[in-house]
Amino acid sequence: MPFTFEERIKTVEDRIKKACERSGRSRDEVHIIAVTKYVSLDTTKSALEHGFCDLGENRWQDAQEKWEAISAESDTSADKQPVWHFIGSLQSNKAKDVIGKFTYIHSLDRLSLAEAIDKRALQLGITVPCFIQVNVSGENSKQGIAPEELAPFVEKLSRYKSITPIGLMTMAPYEAEPEQTRPVFKTLRELRDEIQINSEYGNTITHLSMGMSNDFDIAIEEGATWIRLGTILVGKEEE
Ligand SMILES: *Cc1c(COP(=O)(O)O)cnc(C)c1O
Repeated sequence: MPFTFEERIKTVEDRIKKACERSGRSRDEVHIIAVTKYVSLDTTKSALEHGFCDLGENRWQDAQEKWEAISAESDTSADKQPVWHFIGSLQSNKAKDVIGKFTYIHSLDRLSLAEAIDKRALQLGITVPCFIQVNVSGENSKQGIAPEELAPFVEKLSRYKSITPIGLMTMAPYEAEPEQTRPVFKTLRELRDEIQINSEYGNTITHLSMGMSNDFDIAIEEGATWIRLGTILVGKEEE
């Protein structure tokens, strides 16, 4: 990476502030997840030292070493424990590895997964805040439920008492011109607004997890409350 961590943080912060100003939002409404899936344990620790306490990973196999090392360390030091966000697609049989370690799940996209999360959470005596992943763009390669299936899906979720749906998540297609992603983010916001009016979860489904390195300015303008930043913030290291 050509820049230091401090320089990258400053660039990102400036862009977040400007996007908030352009859209009349308060900076406090936008939370950053530092996505550490491309970087080492040392870089992950550096992110924590720089005050990024929300960490995102998309595969348990890749996250495990970092999760275990950091959890073990925090026992002995007064360091603040990070909050882990699971942002990748989750196989139902992996839910038992992840639930209890990752506080937030951003990729709830089917009832069989809800069932697996609920079962594990019940065993642990916890409730799990989840984002429902929506495939707004309709690309085959993207996970998530179709927009028209969202309302019935949300209704069925009420069976799973150990899951609290707190928001919607989407990934926009990569666009060379980030402005092109705007309709995807706008649609996710409108879907959230409809649910707030029409569902018993109206009070809890408030958050929008959207925006990555390439398109977070646009996502913020369209209402993102959690942006997930990998490359632009913590970098990308070769294996
Ligand atoms: C990898 C990943 C990110 C971060 O990607 P960057 O483009 O490096 O910021 C965000 N969200 C999800 C779901 C990811 O898998």
